Amino acid sequence: MHKGRLVLFSGPSGVGKDTILDAVAEKAPEIQKSISLTTRERRDGEQDGVDYYFTTKEKFLDMIENNEILEYAQYGPNLYGTPKKPVDLWLEDGKTVILKIEVQGAAKIKALYPNTLSIFLMPPSMEELEGRLRNRGTEDENALNERLQIARNEIEKSKDYDHVVVNETVDEAANQVLELLQMK
Ligand code: 5GP
Repeated sequence: MHKGRLVLFSGPSGVGKDTILDAVAEKAPEIQKSISLTTRERRDGEQDGVDYYFTTKEKFLDMIENNEILEYAQYGPNLYGTPKKPVDLWLEDGKTVILKIEVQGAAKIKALYPNTLSIFLMPPSMEELEGRLRNRGTEDENALNERLQIARNEIEKSKDYDHVVVNETVDEAANQVLELLQMK
């Protein structure tokens, strides 16, 4: 048994997961955010090794084969996964580790580790979510519509989570997350 704990943090694309996690990390720097692997293209402003480890499909599949990935899922046309080794080390070290993860990956982890705390970040409304995604301007119309369709399915799965936090304001949502983690 490891000493740390794993926290699953999900929510539809555009809901503001990174913004909330950044605010949480600022208030509680001892929390460790896992950096995922992805085969999707890097967006402007994203840094390799900070936002994601950007990789090819071939390397990703090799890592699955070598058991170096804790969980992975396909989201839209791309693969996303959690590197296993750093998470194991942080947990052995007693850290609280947050995985920013979509719903299929979260369900896999929850089945493996039922004690994992799961939090779903909910937009105030679908209209608001669409507005945020459009403002972000990182996807073309097709990709954006695909993300909105995935978002509807994800929101249905929010009932499987231990807690739902509505992202009305950054400060309130971050504080609610910290309260759920009992770090406030
Ligand atoms: P984005 O392309 O917007 O950065 O991420 C798309 C979706 O993939 C988001 O819902 C995000 O939470 C999810 N995601 C990011 N990293 C991982 C991961 O390691 N595993 C899984 N299952 N989903 C992830």
